[in-house]
Amino acid sequence: MTGKKALIVGAGLGGLATALRLRRRGYEVEMVEMYRQAGGRLNQLTSGGFTFDMAPTFFSMSYHFDEFVRDAGIEMPFRFVQIDPLYRVNFRGSDRWYTIYRDLDRLARQFEDIEPGFRERMERFLASSGVLFDDIEKGVLSKNFRSLPDFLFQMTKIPVKHTPKVLRSVWSEMSRYFNSYEVRVIFSLVSFFLGATPFDTPAVYTLLSYTEMVHDGYHNVEGGMYRIVEGLVREAEKAGIKITYNVTIAGYESTGKRNRAFVDTAGRRWEADFFVVNADAAMFRGRVFGRPAFSDKKLDRMQWTLAPLTLYLGVKGKMENIHHHNYFLGDRDYEPYSKGIFRNRVSLEKPYYYVNANAVFTWACPAEYSGDYRP
Ligand SMILES: Cc1cc2nc3c(=O)[nH]c(=O)nc-3n(C[C@H](O)[C@H](O)[C@H](O)COP(=O)(O)OP(=O)(O)OC[C@H]3O[C@@H](n4cnc5c(N)ncnc54)[C@H](O)[C@@H]3O)c2cc1C
Repeated sequence: MTGKKALIVGAGLGGLATALRLRRRGYEVEMVEMYRQAGGRLNQLTSGGFTFDMAPTFFSMSYHFDEFVRDAGIEMPFRFVQIDPLYRVNFRGSDRWYTIYRDLDRLARQFEDIEPGFRERMERFLASSGVLFDDIEKGVLSKNFRSLPDFLFQMTKIPVKHTPKVLRSVWSEMSRYFNSYEVRVIFSLVSFFLGATPFDTPAVYTLLSYTEMVHDGYHNVEGGMYRIVEGLVREAEKAGIKITYNVTIAGYESTGKRNRAFVDTAGRRWEADFFVVNADAAMFRGRVFGRPAFSDKKLDRMQWTLAPLTLYLGVKGKMENIHHHNYFLGDRDYEPYSKGIFRNRVSLEKPYYYVNANAVFTWACPAEYSGDYRP
């Protein structure tokens, strides 16, 4: 033991993982969480006999979680389920479904008629994004950056051959490989995961296509995504980490530049030798630390990424032919629609939307409704 105590604010995935890593390194760890249960954005809603995972619906780059498990010295707290086919896509006005398989032969059969030579084109596209993935994963994604100069220095190690992909958009990159509107749209959807559109996301992010199609793919978790949180909380309890819920940090006490304690809305003080804040960085800097650059007024003026409007629906009945991830897209208006989202110009009458049939993996609806969901 180091004899030092860490206080972690926020029991989301980041807070829980940090707590377990610190505990392994010998720190006493305590956590506070403003909500009544752990998980943060990855949460769980139970209503009318149905259990819904909230927010994340799939796991990518699962090998990073394996690294965390080893580093924290814990048991793997859940079981991954590989998702294949990855998702299905329907365009408004058509009965046709495009099913996205990881197997290139099966995938090619979905697109041969609209994109002649699809297999070869896809192979070339994936080979190019694979080289990019290898360089960026080693040089950027798996590194810590302690300062801006450190980050810029690491960036200089990325081979210059990738520069055009920084300057081109995902959409122009897709257009270099594919002619069909549908193929370009489907394989550029990954840009929205970043909260941007394919028209303003740099083509370096086509590496995500490589991760989904070739490298590690997408995973769900047996029993539903919230099992990740339940597992981590169990491991935290085993390690003697105390989590107190319904505690909202609202202020702090410091001596000079050193934080001494956080203070919650009930006036209770939370002391430690050092503090980790895994709440929203901008909000916490503004509201708790009172930094003028992060005041509510300033934050309101910033351009933010997308936020979803989510409906949790328990369906009384058996739905045939529904997959885990289903995209329902519009009819040939992808560019104006995507750009309109960021200008609040999209009417809800004809939205693009995504249906996650969460019961496929959670098996958490009343027995009489569940039968046909199982993969
Ligand atoms: C709709 C949606 C879909 C997503 N889908 C995916 C996906 O499919 N795959 C994927 O990998 N990622 C996905 N993500 C992203 C993923 O959910 C997040 O990156 C991840 O959950 C963030 O974890 P975190 O611990 O960093 O932060 P959070 O989950 O935000 O945790 C922060 C915690 O701090 C607590 N907190 C905040 N302020 C205070 C305070 N003042 N005092 C005490 N506690 C406080 C909060 O209650 C919260 O529990 C999705 C996100 C959203 C919103």
